[in-house]
Amino acid sequence: MSTIFSQIVDGEIPARVVYEDETTLAFLDANPLAPGHTLVIPKDEYERLNDVPEDVAEDLYATVHHLVPAVEEAVDADASTVAFNNGEAAGQEVPHVHCHIVPRFEGDGGGPIHGVVGGPADLEDDELDEIADDIESRT
Ligand code: 5GP
Repeated sequence: MSTIFSQIVDGEIPARVVYEDETTLAFLDANPLAPGHTLVIPKDEYERLNDVPEDVAEDLYATVHHLVPAVEEAVDADASTVAFNNGEAAGQEVPHVHCHIVPRFEGDGGGPIHGVVGGPADLEDDELDEIADDIESRT
């Protein structure tokens, strides 16, 4: 069963497409958080960011890079929040990688990305050192 976004890629369900190339597609979110809220996807179905092959990841970033100023200018935004919900626990509902470009406006009442969890994590220096080493060892 293909994702709803694959159905958009295949033209099986309609969407307000704003950009398309060989490997990526961008279209307006059906439930926008702001005017111009746009989703950028790889056309092929990958659930999480780490599933995306490197060449497709490069294409995806290039499309995001290209779209951010276009979206902001189209709706006269002051800024934008650009984010992926990567995995169900992070709020990802559609299991097909997608980048949200959410236009932001002075005084729009929204917060920074720091607001996605309850508050800052309470971590000691030695825990931070251990985490940094662990991440570095996996790169
Ligand atoms: P997620 O929570 O997975 O990061 O976000 C999924 C997004 O896809 C939501 O913002 C939702 O409004 C949007 N969405 C879900 N179904 C459709 C659809 O059929 N068409 C479009 N254009 N957007 C959709």
